Amino acid sequence: MKYKKQLIAAVLIGFSLLTGYLILYAFFHREKGDLIFIIFNSYALLAIVLGVVMAYRRERNEQYKKELTHKRLTYLTQNLTAPAMLWNDSFTEVILNDALMELSNLHKHEDLSAQEIVPMFFGKKEKLTDEDIREIVNAKNQEYSFTARGGVLHDMIWNTSAVETDEDGVTWLLSIGMDLADIRQMESKLKIYTNRLSASEGRHNLIMELMDVGLLLIEQGNPQFFISEKLQRMFGLRSISITIPEIRKLIYPLDAVAFDTHVQTMRSHMKHFIGKTDTLELRICSADGQYHWYSYRYRATTYRDSGRLVVGGTVIDISGEKQRDATMEKIAYEDTVTGIPNRNKLMRMGKELYECTTELHNSYWVIVMDIDRFHLINDTCGYTAGNAVLRSFADVLVKQLTQGGFGARISGDNFALILRDTGDEMLPEKVIAKIQRALLTKAVSDISNRSLSCSAGYAKMPADGDSFEHVLEHAEFALSSGSKALGSVSRYTSAMHDEIIYDSNLETQLHEALSHNELELYYQPKVSLETGDIVGLEALIRWNHPSGKIISPGIFIPIAERSQLITQITRFVMYDACRQMKVWQTMGLPDTVVSINFSSTDFYQENICAQIQDALNKYGLAPSCLEIELTESLALMDIDTTIARMHELRKAGIKLAMDDFGTGYSSLSYIEQLPFTIVKLDRSFVTEMHNNPVVQEIVHSVARIARTKQINTIAEGVETQEQAEMLRAAGCEYAQGYLYGRPMTAKATEQYIRDCLKKKAKH
Ligand code: C2E
Ligand code: CA
Ligand code: CA
Repeated sequence: MKYKKQLIAAVLIGFSLLTGYLILYAFFHREKGDLIFIIFNSYALLAIVLGVVMAYRRERNEQYKKELTHKRLTYLTQNLTAPAMLWNDSFTEVILNDALMELSNLHKHEDLSAQEIVPMFFGKKEKLTDEDIREIVNAKNQEYSFTARGGVLHDMIWNTSAVETDEDGVTWLLSIGMDLADIRQMESKLKIYTNRLSASEGRHNLIMELMDVGLLLIEQGNPQFFISEKLQRMFGLRSISITIPEIRKLIYPLDAVAFDTHVQTMRSHMKHFIGKTDTLELRICSADGQYHWYSYRYRATTYRDSGRLVVGGTVIDISGEKQRDATMEKIAYEDTVTGIPNRNKLMRMGKELYECTTELHNSYWVIVMDIDRFHLINDTCGYTAGNAVLRSFADVLVKQLTQGGFGARISGDNFALILRDTGDEMLPEKVIAKIQRALLTKAVSDISNRSLSCSAGYAKMPADGDSFEHVLEHAEFALSSGSKALGSVSRYTSAMHDEIIYDSNLETQLHEALSHNELELYYQPKVSLETGDIVGLEALIRWNHPSGKIISPGIFIPIAERSQLITQITRFVMYDACRQMKVWQTMGLPDTVVSINFSSTDFYQENICAQIQDALNKYGLAPSCLEIELTESLALMDIDTTIARMHELRKAGIKLAMDDFGTGYSSLSYIEQLPFTIVKLDRSFVTEMHNNPVVQEIVHSVARIARTKQINTIAEGVETQEQAEMLRAAGCEYAQGYLYGRPMTAKATEQYIRDCLKKKAKH
């Protein structure tokens, strides 16, 4: 190749020299017309020189390019980790990379020609023919054996391809080899690994079967749960995967909120559960069609290959354990009458959900419901019917929860509901309307001809309170501030909050009211239905607020009860009533009985009897002139203490009235069990009596039973002569109400008593 170029160059230089000589010769021996010849020759010479220069440069370029390609190929070969060699079909050159050098045990300094080296790798001893080379290039997975220096035999598979052909027609070939020993080793490793894998998988499944557990798995971003065969059998399913809505349908309605919270937590916070084990206990409808308790112990991890998050764990039927715990749980968290969760459970659940809202940025509705006129049903139809109503209500409530939610009976006839906020601001109203509709049909079937309705108040969590307790309190507040109409529904608003603020301001002011003598006792007469004579006076407290308003006890007594201020108020009432009675007695007015109202806290005070005695002694008033009004709810708190305390007061000669009879869990048995001297029928009896024969019947029974126990009966809230007449006919002895006189100041009362005496004297 190099010789060829030099020859061309020599010929060209020779030719140029010859032409130059001819030009010079013609110039010195020029004759006419020779100049043209000279010029022509000069141009010819210039063209030849230029041609030679250009040809030379092109040659240089191509040479450079070829060298570059060659360099690249060499570099590539040398950097391959597999055994490889670069060679050409003229056997002028061969390059072995390090891997092949090592395998063949050849050394760089060994002076072997390509003609000797290349055939050796393809199991040949002589020079390779064109036929051999073609075969080598076309071979696919063909094995070639070679003996390395030192005698080791290697089986190889070569992959040879022609990478370059230069202009001389020399083809460069790149052969990359694979040592079959390596491949075989890899194959056997893979086999062992596969065997091991399937063995461990089999063992794993076997363990799972023996342990009697189900497996549940959910991957991040995948809307399906994967379930093991065992779990399929447990739930009566036929597929290895189940969608979230499908599994949700199997979950007991009361547990749906817990499930939703879990799913949501996993969706947004799965990675927080890596390495942590947690448990979720749910009732799930199983293959036998019954709800079973399951414990799902789960933790999150990532797939080793993809890094994708997955959460999974074992599902175990814990119905047995649950049954054992059930009695404990029942006492603590289940309402005995309805069997649904009680207030304790609601508080626990509510608190948990409240905590979730801050993390998950979701919200819930908290609805509180009250059965309208429940006390009437209870009173007129009895306890059993009342309980049946509560159970019916609970039933209606639980049916509402199929879409998720949590329901509980929180007190007497109050129920609460927690619903997930779906973004529909009307959801609580819709759900309440549904409950109300369901109650109407229930009423027809279950409680003869009585129509049942409920009122509700609701609030949003966490927006409407800084704790679950607050949100619930606000929902209850909304319920109590709603219109008094049956079936009223009201939402908690911040304006209501202002009312609460007003309450707390009032509480501060109430402290001062006591020391500033702003409290005053009014008196309302109690009269005999038979004779019309005054038989007693009820002391009813009023607050003469510095603003000039008279605040009624209905507003400030509940505030005082919450803040323990009630003790001081009752003390004031006790002493002031005794003082006033003594004043009237000293004035010569006839002896009469004053009744004072007690809150439950007052009644349970250790030294209450001593205090009363002290008030009586201070003003020298006979105990027979004092009556204490207690509500029946008080008796429900601690029946033994109640009875003991009542006997103590009775022994001291003090009278005891059962106030507001018929508003709560009224039971005629209280009249029989508890040492009351008088029963006060609640105003609701009086208002209902004229159009409800059942109520009339109750009044009759109460009066009759009371009389057999030497207990008097008084009706409160008597406003009309007609009511008075009906009560008298039913056997009620006394009455109190606007018909006879409103609560009045001491001064007005004094006048009232004097007027009555005058009237009587006239007759
Ligand atoms: P209560 O003991 O049931 O008192 C009867 C309430 O009915 C009184 O309301 C009275 O004014 C009202 N009333 C009487 N006759 C009629 C009538 O014909 N029609 C109507 N619509 N209402 C009538 P008041 O004075 O506002 O007291 C409300 C409640 O506050 C009382 O209910 C009692 O529970 C409580 N209270 C009043 N004074 C005291 C007190 O000194 N200590 C305690 N602990 N509670 C008190
Ligand atoms: Ca009273
Ligand atoms: Ca009352």
